[in-house]
Amino acid sequence: MKLPLPFAAAPRRPRLLVVDDQPINVQTLYQALSAEHQVFVATGGEQALKLAREKQPDLVLLDVVMPDIDGYEVCRRLKADSTTADIPVIFVTAHSDEHEEAQGLDAGAVDFIAKPINPRIVRARVKTHLTLKQQSDQLRQMAFVDGLTGVFNRRYFDERLQQEWLRAMRNGTPLTLMLIDIDAFKPFNDRYGHQAGDDCLRRVAHALAAGLQRPADLLARYGGEEFACVLPETEVQGALALAQRLSEQVKALAIEHADAPSDRRISVSIGVAGRPASRPGEECGGSIAELLVRTDRQLYRAKNAGRARVCAE
Ligand code: GH3
Ligand code: MG
Ligand code: MG
Repeated sequence: MKLPLPFAAAPRRPRLLVVDDQPINVQTLYQALSAEHQVFVATGGEQALKLAREKQPDLVLLDVVMPDIDGYEVCRRLKADSTTADIPVIFVTAHSDEHEEAQGLDAGAVDFIAKPINPRIVRARVKTHLTLKQQSDQLRQMAFVDGLTGVFNRRYFDERLQQEWLRAMRNGTPLTLMLIDIDAFKPFNDRYGHQAGDDCLRRVAHALAAGLQRPADLLARYGGEEFACVLPETEVQGALALAQRLSEQVKALAIEHADAPSDRRISVSIGVAGRPASRPGEECGGSIAELLVRTDRQLYRAKNAGRARVCAE
């Protein structure tokens, strides 16, 4: 089963983008690196920028002198674009005087390799920078993942909700929110202990994450025993069906809970509210804060109506 969890990505071969207008250099680098890496090749600056955005390589090996845009400018543009800014760049160049080297580092490169290319040196440098990149990726990921459950945390949720909200407004697409709260979780902790409470939180988080279907759907731990979902391009009607399915999936875990509101097992209450489709650019559905309040109101209704159910506007 493939979970839409931040840490569920399968390990893959590192991706390199080799940029050089001379076929012989491309061939040498390709031969040195293709056994252990997935290598993409660009023979000019514009093509390099396009490939970097599309393929999201882990590292760029960049020639300086090229006929269209030179390497320094390519590097500066990579660094100025938020989708490629974190990709490390190594310059590979025949002119290795100090001035050139400084200029490359100023443009944002992490290293400099001199031509003619020595395959062993290239491999060693690439390995070093890939390790550093992997470590910084991991740190970045830890900053937006909830440590207990492995789903995204509140900070990341707030950021993405803001982005998706603006996108929905721009495109006139609907957007729906869900707030999901575990029922009678305090008595569960009191009866079965905090460790069992933590295990329960993890299992519920995984069941919820596994129940989401579209890549853009996002689940986060919103607070102690509360989760939130943002569903772009989804009407409330569709989200309601999904919420009902998620609620069933949590019940299907069959986690025993003697004080549960129903069925002697763990359940959730879910509130659903959204912003309808509109004309592109048209402001409707109030603000993000208002949408959160409305969703919370539906959650409150579900709790008041006896828990273990879904309420939608
Ligand atoms: P309701 O059905 O109204 O939601 O009742 P509740 O008991 O679930 O709600 P309440 O907000 O009173 O209690 C939430 C409890 O969740 C309090 C705390 O014991 C527990 N909790 C919050 N975070 C964690 C956590 O990280 N681990 C564990 N084990 N328990 C947690
Ligand atoms: Mg609760
Ligand atoms: Mg709560």
